Amino acid sequence: MFRVLCILALAFIATSESKLHCTLPPVDIPKDWITVPDACTKAMKEQVQVELTAAMTYLAMGAHFNRDTINRPGFAEKFFKSASEEREHAMKIMEYLLMRGGLTSDISSMIKDPRPIRTSWDSAYKALKDALALETEVTKKIRNIIVVCETPTDAPDANDYHLVDYLTADFLTEQYEGQRELAGEISTLGKMIDTHGPIGEFLYDKKLLG
Ligand code: FE
Repeated sequence: MFRVLCILALAFIATSESKLHCTLPPVDIPKDWITVPDACTKAMKEQVQVELTAAMTYLAMGAHFNRDTINRPGFAEKFFKSASEEREHAMKIMEYLLMRGGLTSDISSMIKDPRPIRTSWDSAYKALKDALALETEVTKKIRNIIVVCETPTDAPDANDYHLVDYLTADFLTEQYEGQRELAGEISTLGKMIDTHGPIGEFLYDKKLLG
């Protein structure tokens, strides 16, 4: 008897849960307000992956320089901070596309499997040079998106002024400032190593800690 009651109770729960499932039909929202050209949306989605790859690379740098065998807490802190900034860039691009209706359907192409470009470095000097090369590549990609969004192949007359302005003002400015900062750090660290040998990296790490 008890077993029968249990089966009936389970059947009742299963029926109740199925009734709770949302069965609302898809809402028919007009699409005219979505004006970002497809080629431009595609390029922006690809940039999310680029920013996440940069975030993973800086995360790997932070972890590498924080290892007990490396122990450069100043560089680790710097690279962990950069990782957070890159993740924020990815989120800013997503938020922009969400605002313009560019993510009404598929988002899987945006977040695939971002991997760091490498996971260990021979020295902080080499890591800084990798960081500058990475930022230079990211800048090139943002400039390419601007070109695509100014004259999209699928709609040559549909210059997306707002998006182009957003990328130019927000993203490119930060890229150029970041590149200059890294170039300056490579310069100073290089001189310190030339003058003091390996202890130059140790001293520069202390400087980064303030
Ligand atoms: Fe970035």
